[in-house]
Formats: sequence, structure tokens, C-alpha cells
Amino acid sequence: MASSKLEHLPQQQWHQISTADVAAYLKTDLSMGLSSLEVPQRHEVYGFNELKGKAEKSPVIRFLMEFNQPLIYILLVAGIVTLLLQDWVDAGVILGVTLINAVIGFIQESKAENAIAALAKSVTTEATVIRDNQKVRLNSRELVLGDLVLLASGDKVPADLRLVAVRDLQVSEAALTGESVPVQKSNAPLALETVLADRLNMAYAGSLVTFGQARGLVVAIANQTETGRISQLIEQSAGLETPLTRKIERFSKTLLYIILGLAALTFAVVMGQGGSWSEGFKSAVALAVSAIPEGLPAVVTVTLAIGVNRMAQRHTIIRKLPAVETLGSTTVICSDKTGTLTENQMTVQAIYAGETSYKVSGVRYDAEGSILQNGQPVEMSQAPTLRECLQCGVLCNDSHLQAQDGQLSVAGDPTEGALIVSGQKAGITQQTLEQEQPRLDTIPFESQFQYMATLHQQIELADRHAIYVKGSSEAILKRCRYQLDVNGQCIALNWERIEQITHEMADQGLRVLAFAKKKISAEQQDIDYDDIETNLIFLGLQGMIDPPRVEAIAAVRVCQSAGIQVKMITGDHALTAAAIARQMGLSQDEAAPVFTGKQLAAMNAQYLAKAVEASAVFARVAPEQKLRLVEALQAKGEVVAMTGDGVNDAPALKQADIGIAMGITGTEVAKEAADMILTDDNFASIEAAVEEGRTVYGNLLKTIGFILPVNGGEAMTILVGILVGASLPILPVQILWVNMVSSVALSATIAFEPKETGTMARSPMPPNQPLLTGKLLWRILIISIFNLIAVFGMFEWILQTTGNINLARTMAVHTLVATETFYLLSISQCIPSLFSYLKDPTRTFAYIPAIGVACVFILQIFFSQLRIINPLFNTQPLSMAQALICISAGIPIIVPALFLKRFAPLA
Ligand code: ADP
Ligand code: MG
Repeated sequence: MASSKLEHLPQQQWHQISTADVAAYLKTDLSMGLSSLEVPQRHEVYGFNELKGKAEKSPVIRFLMEFNQPLIYILLVAGIVTLLLQDWVDAGVILGVTLINAVIGFIQESKAENAIAALAKSVTTEATVIRDNQKVRLNSRELVLGDLVLLASGDKVPADLRLVAVRDLQVSEAALTGESVPVQKSNAPLALETVLADRLNMAYAGSLVTFGQARGLVVAIANQTETGRISQLIEQSAGLETPLTRKIERFSKTLLYIILGLAALTFAVVMGQGGSWSEGFKSAVALAVSAIPEGLPAVVTVTLAIGVNRMAQRHTIIRKLPAVETLGSTTVICSDKTGTLTENQMTVQAIYAGETSYKVSGVRYDAEGSILQNGQPVEMSQAPTLRECLQCGVLCNDSHLQAQDGQLSVAGDPTEGALIVSGQKAGITQQTLEQEQPRLDTIPFESQFQYMATLHQQIELADRHAIYVKGSSEAILKRCRYQLDVNGQCIALNWERIEQITHEMADQGLRVLAFAKKKISAEQQDIDYDDIETNLIFLGLQGMIDPPRVEAIAAVRVCQSAGIQVKMITGDHALTAAAIARQMGLSQDEAAPVFTGKQLAAMNAQYLAKAVEASAVFARVAPEQKLRLVEALQAKGEVVAMTGDGVNDAPALKQADIGIAMGITGTEVAKEAADMILTDDNFASIEAAVEEGRTVYGNLLKTIGFILPVNGGEAMTILVGILVGASLPILPVQILWVNMVSSVALSATIAFEPKETGTMARSPMPPNQPLLTGKLLWRILIISIFNLIAVFGMFEWILQTTGNINLARTMAVHTLVATETFYLLSISQCIPSLFSYLKDPTRTFAYIPAIGVACVFILQIFFSQLRIINPLFNTQPLSMAQALICISAGIPIIVPALFLKRFAPLA
């Protein structure tokens, strides 16, 4: 056997040599592909086709970036001021806290980023190759040099390829050259000096096939590809920015100025009261430290990451993090019909051929069942036209059936699977038929043309080749002139009758395909679009049922109660679409019109705007028209989620607020353009994602509504303390303990909160809603004031009665943490879920806040009861009675918390 090491590879000159030479260099066969025996050896020598060494910011830089936050600047300045005041312990604690904060932020953000990136990467690129003369689909990672790759529209080019056979191939190389107009490719050798962008006989990894088909040999993989060499453009950067994090960033900046202002005011007040410089600084530092929500950014990131994970468990993979939030504001979901709203398990139920109607029994892909006429099985030898119609369906077909775990499934398009089964019911087997009439050429199905055609050699008719065509009845009928009668004789086409039958079938929700043929000279070895423009002979219709998914019906209902409109956009017949929409309860108004692509095309913007609002069903829509629909909806202020799978869906997916690609049937181009991917292609998963999106947003609001009143309460306590001329009720180091330890332990649990019962009974959240709504501000103010009263009251009371300032401060801190704890329990679902769990053990108990509370309890014991901690935080051990007093002081906050929950809920 030849050595696996390929000698003398003409690096980068593949475009110059002939296809035969390329094959010779790569020791591969232009029609059979590589031998699969050869593949492992090439893997050994050249490795796998995956990009390595993603250029990312160094960890040191990313760690330092953690300090690059306005609020951290204040802490750093406060730390330095304290150092200058030679207050070593305090300075150490403050600076230590900024360090811990950076470490926590760094770890959590890296973890979140990695988790999100890993999910995005779990969506692998697949490639179709020929090995051992067999077509196989595999993960593009498996490709080796010399592999013969098949490209079809919608594919992402999996490696650098020298094209050896090309059919109308157009490739978008925007990722590589920045040129967004697709390039028409060929396979002819080019001059050596041809620059990369002009190498028409090459397809480069990461480019997207927008049209046509081709075969190419792999000439470079992994980091040796052009894209791999210039950079890691293909790597999806998993940014952690979302509208909300940006809002928080802006809010932090505003807060920075407010805090600086208040700190200056504090300083002035202390000086005015005759305090020393150092006292003034200390008070200013205390205020600054108290008002900064240090833990917030990290908690927000964690909450988002948890949301992404939950969505993944419910079959949606988020490619772009902002989608998590946008999902919560979605007002319209535009969904494909076939396969998303329906099961995509088709069965032919009605046939019209030779002017005769037939019924077909049996379900799914089982060949059990037969073709019936007036309830009696048909004698196939008596029905030549029916036979031709069925044969056309089997021959003009790119799919096949396969047995998987004892169950039949389709490899390919379920529409085509159904046609193979209907053929089987008449005794036609795909394999035999394909041997009798070998296929010479194909025009693949593209939804904008709505048909597919194949050219076949005919064993009994040596001088004629046959073209078989199948497609929508509109696309086929306008190309037909004749039809076959029941005996197989050519007669004039009865267009009206056929159209009437089509409508009858479609009205029952059947997906209708029409079949036709044409004979051409045997000299012709390939076919073009022109060959099937006219003079086809109509063979018949087959109508297949594709039942709605049961879970999708339920999901549609949930969306409707959540104030989200669901619209069906399909390439299918208007009546079929309307019937399915009826079965699914898609449109509340039964009389609402169904618009077709043709009608939409004729509408001006004004009419279109009305149409998109009025109707829930759009049929015979070409993918290009989806973009207009999205834009029209967005112009009405809707937040639009749109599904898609094909190449031509990409512009609409990009334009939509949430582009959703199908994970199973979707092309790489669609996935690339999408914000999220459905791993099960199921509409119900979109609804689940919306639910999770709303939950995440609600949890983020809860987090903000939890953390800010703590800071508010602390800052007010310091301010009031200073204004009334008392000593600081809580020291800066104690505040830092609360903010960095106790609050974080409690607030982190909010990220795990499950969905609230009313989540999908509310209308969508307005997309441009400010971070702090009036309601939220009121809540922050009210809870802050409660914290102030409890904490300052406790401090003054203990100070007055005992005169022990350390004890007073210790108890003030414990009181603050107690109010926080009870507040958390009142806003979380922990306690309500415990009750419902006790009543019905099948319900889940959202126990995580309880763990947070237990942790905080132990931490607070450390804080005051451990002798080695006491000097660090100026704390003092409490008696049991004193501890109970602090805990009880936290209880009254339940009253305003429950009041707010009732009248100004957070989520
Ligand atoms: P959708 O996915 O929304 O149902 P398609 O664009 O797939 O819409 O299909 C539109 C029409 O094209 C169908 O109603 C059918 O008549 C026809 N069609 C669908 N699939 C095929 C196919 N594989 N070959 C030929 N015609 C097809
Ligand atoms: Mg389709």
C-alpha cells in the first residue's frame, strides 16, 4: 500500500493545475473518492479538520479588565485613601475585597463564557463526502486531505476545496474576503498569479454555498486552510454583552457620579461638624463603599449563563447571548409549518391519476396498506397512469427509507419518504426501479422554484430519455400541455378539473404534489431549467397528511395567552396551510384571510402592514419574502422571532429580533445567520425558550431588586448617622463583608429560581423598558427605608442601652443580614414551593434559597463569634438573646415585601 504521506503537495497552487493532477497528487479518485482504509492513516499524519488555538485575550489582561469598572475605581481610591490614613486593617480589607471581587468576576465570567461557547460549538458542521464510491454524511472534523466533498446550496464549505465539478455553484466568501456578493465558481485551471478572491475553482473553508452544487477535493484542512491561516474568523465569539448588561453598565456610570457627590457631601458635613480630615475621609469612604453594588455584575452573568443552560436542556441552543433577553420581549413568532408546527411524518392518503381518484390506507412509513378505489384494492396492471404517477414519485426522489432500531425512518425529505411508501404500497421498490431507469442528472428541489426534476435512461426505450418532474401543482400545471387518461393515453390537459381536485385535497389539510414527465432525445445527458419549461405530460397528484404536533398545539395556546401572536409562514398551498392553521387554533378569527406570496408581492408597504397584522397564515411564500414580512412587523413595533432553514431564509433570520434556525433540517447558512438553534425543530421548543427567557429576565430583575435596597439601606444609614452626628453605625469593612459575602451568597440563589406560575399569562415585556422602572425605584426606596429603620434603630438602641459601640455595630450588621434574608425569602419561590410540595410531592421544591440562607447563617456566626475574626471586622460575640433580637428585627420586612409582591411584582 502506498505511503500515507503525500509527497510534493503544490501548496497554494491548486488552482493552477488540472483536476486530474489534483486527484493524482492527493491519491484519490475523482468519482469514487478515497478508500475508507486510507482515512485513518491520513488522520494520523495530518490530524483532524478542526481549528486550534483560538486567539483570545490573555487571562492576565482579562483579569485586569475586571478592575476596569467605574465602581471598582471608587473602591480602589477608597482603599488608597485609607492606606494614606495608615488604617492598615481597613485598607487591607478594602483592597482585598476588590481583589476577591476581581477573582470571583473572572472565574464566573470565564465559566459562563466557556459554557456558552461550548454549547454553541456543540452545533457541529456536517459535510457530505464520497468514500468507497458511497455518499456519507459526517462531522466535518473527520475530513482528510483528498476527500471528495459534495457541496449543495446551504452548506458551509468544510475545508479548502479544489472544485472538480461545478453546477451553477455560487459561494459567499464574505467571511474570508469581506465581499458579500456571492461568487460564481467553475472548475477550470487558472493562472498561477490569480489572487485568492479570483480563484474561481477553489472553495474556501467557512464560505457559504448560496446556490447550486459542486464536487471538490479537500486540499487543506484545519489551520492550514486560508481562513485558519489568517485568523480564527470562523470561531464564534461568545460575547457576554446583552442589552441588560449594557444598561447596568450605564447605570453604574450614573451611580458613580451620585456616589462621588454623596461622598463629597459626607466629607463636607463631617468637616462642618468640626471633624478632622481623617474622620471626613473615613466617612466618605464608608459611604462610597456602602453604595456600591459590587456583587451585581457577576450575579447577572451567572443568571444569564444559567438561563442559557436551561434553554439547552429544552432543545434551544443560544448562539447570541442577547437573545436570552429578547426572547422575553417577543411579541410575534413567525414559524414554518412543515416540520415545526407539524410532525413531518407524512403519509400519502389521496391520489388522483388518470382522471381517477384513489385513497391510500396505512400510516407513516409502514408499507402495510394499499391503494383503494371505491374501497377496493386496485389491480395495478389495470391502472397504468396510476403506476406512472407513483413511479415518478419514487424516481424523482433524493431520499430513501432506512430501518433504525426496528423503525422505518426517512434519510432525506419526509415529503419524498411518503412518495417511496406510496410506491411500495403498489409493489414498486425504489431499488429495482432505479436499476431499470438509472438517473443521469438532477435539478434539486429549491423552494423558490417549487419543483424538482430528474433525467433517466430507459432500458426498454433506448432512443429516448425520460424527465420526471414533481412539485407544487401550480409549478407543474403551468408547464403541462397534456395529461394521461386512465388507460395511459395522452389527452389534452384538463386544468380546471385538476385544480379543483388540488383544492379539495388541500382543503383537508393535505400537502399536494403534482407529477409530470417528458421524453427527450437520448443524446441529451443532462437537463437544464429550460428543458422542463413547457410540454410536460401531467401524470397525477398525491396528497399527503402531515398532522400537527400535539405539543405544538399546546404551545400555540400558551403563546396566545402570553400575548404572543403566532403566524405561520409556509411555502405550501394556501388551503393546506389554512386547514392546518384551523386544526391548531392558530388564528382566533376563523374568517381571517390567508395571504399568498403572490398577493404579498403585489402589496405596497401600507397594505402589507395591514395584512401582516390581520392574518396569521401566509402561504406559498418565497423565502425572500420573509424579510419583507419581518420588516413590516417590526415597523409596527413588534419584536419578531422568525424560523428558517434554507439559504434564502438567512436575510430574514438576520433581520428578525430573534432568528431561529432548525437544528435538524436547517442548512449551515441558516444556522450561521440565526441567534438560536432548535435542536429538535419543534415549535414547542420556541415557546419553552420564551418561557425561559421571561424567567431569566424576571430573575435578573429580582436580583437587582434584591441587591440595590441593601446598598440603599446601607448608604442611608451612613448618611443619617453622619447627619445626626452619631458615629458610623456600620464600618466600611463591615459593609464590605455584607456586600461581598452575605449578599452574594443570598442573591446568587435567585439565578436558580424556577419559572413563576404567571410567567406565561402576562404580556411581553416592552423591549426598550428602562432598567429601573418607576415600580422598581419605589421598591428599592421602600425596602431601603425599611433597612435604614431596622439597622440604624438597632445601632442606636444598643448604643444607648449598653454604650458598647462594637456590640452596636455587630448587631446592626446582623440585623441588616436578617432583613436581607427575610426579604429574599419573601420574593423567592422557596417557601410557596415548599408548601405546594408538601401538599403534592410531585411538585418541585425550589430549595436553593434555603441553602443560601443556611450558608449565610453560618457565615454570620463566623463574623461575630470567632475570636480571630473579631479584630478584623471590629465585631463582638453576641449572646443567644442578642442574636435572637437581631433575627427578629429582620422579620417585619416581610410586610412591605409581600405588599410589594402583590401590587408591584418584580417579575
Ligand atoms: P414548506 O416547507 O413551508 O411546507 P416548501 O417550500 O418545502 O414549503 O414546499 C412548497 C411546495 O413545494 C410544497 O407544497 C410542495 O408542493 C412542493 N415540494 C415540497 N417538497 C418538495 C420536493 N422535495 N420535491 C418537489 N416538490 C416539493
Ligand atoms: Mg420544506
